[in-house]
Amino acid sequence: MARSVLVSGGCGFIGSHLIDRLLLRADLETLVIVDNLWTGSRQNIAHIADPRLSLEIQDVENFRSDRRFDEIIHLASPASPPWYMRSPARTIKANLGGALNLLTLLKPGGRFCFTSTSEVYGDPLVSPQPESYRGSVDCTGPRSSYDESKRCTESLLFETQRVDGLDVRVVRLFNVYGSRTRIDDGRAISNFISQALTTGILTVYGDGSQSRSWGHVDDIVDALERFFWRDNISHRGPLNIGNDCEVPVLQIAKFICSLVPGGSIEHRPPAPQDPTNRCPDLTLARRILPGWKAKTGYQDGIERTLHWFREQMAAIDAVPVA
Ligand code: UDP
Repeated sequence: MARSVLVSGGCGFIGSHLIDRLLLRADLETLVIVDNLWTGSRQNIAHIADPRLSLEIQDVENFRSDRRFDEIIHLASPASPPWYMRSPARTIKANLGGALNLLTLLKPGGRFCFTSTSEVYGDPLVSPQPESYRGSVDCTGPRSSYDESKRCTESLLFETQRVDGLDVRVVRLFNVYGSRTRIDDGRAISNFISQALTTGILTVYGDGSQSRSWGHVDDIVDALERFFWRDNISHRGPLNIGNDCEVPVLQIAKFICSLVPGGSIEHRPPAPQDPTNRCPDLTLARRILPGWKAKTGYQDGIERTLHWFREQMAAIDAVPVA
């Protein structure tokens, strides 16, 4: 059956990788991206020439259409702390306002997929974090616009499922990195790489002992594809998706220094309410998505990301000054 699909945030880092995968689907008839290009970029889909794809440049919470869609995948949101902390209202509108609006564009019986976040666990008191862990989030803290809008959107979707039988799919993503991250994104791996390639000073907040589980985007979209596309599934989420190899931030910075000669590490004051640790319990993901595995180790993934950043920066340098 021919399917119409809407992806919010399809010009973003993860969204654009997902668009590439969607276009490989033989049952895809139309694919509409809604993106306001706030953190996303047209460049991320510039390589695509496919008549099924169209782009609507709009805030997701205000997008209006006479069309209705078989599948909606809602990714639109900034995901980097400096970006969402600068614009909390906009972050809440994109996540929660976006979901409320997009639900009105779903065909009856349609499927609604949402990328939530490991941030719903806040600064976790258990490790690794299973989906049943309810988290430790400060609803008035500096990260709350992101954390709480993701949590509330999960609540909206699961409650709509309970009341109206909505077909939902919700994933919680853990620290995704890779190609098509903005050079000025500000998250750890992208920041360290762009700093290594420019100033040579890698800014580690605090002592760098705080840890994360770094998931390469190829592995992450592989899981999204297996979860979002499949019709028969025994569990609709929330589902942790990530790489369960937990590595301290300082180790990541040192590794990037080892790849780019001349770099040095400078410690800065800790980021406010920075979670001390984060690691997914992937038991459920392994059961629901047989055959899926986060295959990319951080060393390999970072080398590939570094290569991509080098190409991007060389292309910027090559643009003649008017
Ligand atoms: N971080 C850092 N230097 C940077 C950017 C981030 O030390 O230039 C730290 C940050 O304080 C956090 C970790 O790296 O402890 C991961 O930060 P990121 O923004 O990538 O993701 P999140 O905090 O949302 O997990």
